[in-house]
Amino acid sequence: MNTFLFLKRATAATAACALTTAGAVALAACGAPGTPRAATVPAPASAVGTPSPPPTLAPGPGGLTPVFMKAAGAHDRTVALTFDADMTADQGPRAAAGERFDNPRLIGTLRRLKVPSTVFMTGRWAEEYPRQARAIGRDPLFEVANHSYSHHAFTEDCYGLPTVPASGMRADVERAFTAFRTAGIEHPMPYFRFPGGCYDRRALKALSGTGVTAVQWDVVSGDAFATDAGAVARQVLDGVRPGSVVVMHCTRSAAPATEEALRTIVPELRERGYRFVKVSELIRPDA
Ligand SMILES: [Zn+2]
Repeated sequence: MNTFLFLKRATAATAACALTTAGAVALAACGAPGTPRAATVPAPASAVGTPSPPPTLAPGPGGLTPVFMKAAGAHDRTVALTFDADMTADQGPRAAAGERFDNPRLIGTLRRLKVPSTVFMTGRWAEEYPRQARAIGRDPLFEVANHSYSHHAFTEDCYGLPTVPASGMRADVERAFTAFRTAGIEHPMPYFRFPGGCYDRRALKALSGTGVTAVQWDVVSGDAFATDAGAVARQVLDGVRPGSVVVMHCTRSAAPATEEALRTIVPELRERGYRFVKVSELIRPDA
């Protein structure tokens, strides 16, 4: 990647962060890149009994939670679209007042276009929309992964989000898995996306033992609070490389242009020879 491209992409990512901070802290879509490692470990206890255990990365030094960002060295044109289903623990009253944190039309478009996708769902979202959560969780087109229960931050300074104390981090992640089970999601994936993408060594340590692989991204769609679907589509199309992970949102009130952007992104990437995969397909020893 040349310097100009890098700067251009970095600027776009920064702009998305600024927009998020200015808009509403509930939906943050920026963060530091992680370090992909190419190794697998036995499936965590939560996955025992599933037909084929989901691939995960080996823990880091001292058992630190591993972090996946993209499929390093991928040669085939695969790309994972990921959708964060954000809802913060204190947003119940806003939902009761009519604000829509779901986006059934977007899910319908992914189905119509047959786009395998990974949905990073908060436990609070699954509680608010149990029927949708179950339908997504039971549709083989999708996989559901963990985006925390509360959508509170796992670092001290993360776009103004309230902070989960280190002592409560593991419980917050496990509470989301419990909410998934209650909603009827039988096989959530052992993948975790930090709210806002914010993490540090302390957070990775706090989650060691949960068996999750943290999943970041290398392409920021900039869909948070965007109203220009064309701009979102261009940013994704400019950023995607073989093995990329794209972060988007399936939260209608805070990402209103995403569904329209998809209708450009999906055919254009297919035209370029890309195949859409779930995150679990990118996390491979030979990726
Ligand atoms: Zn989020």
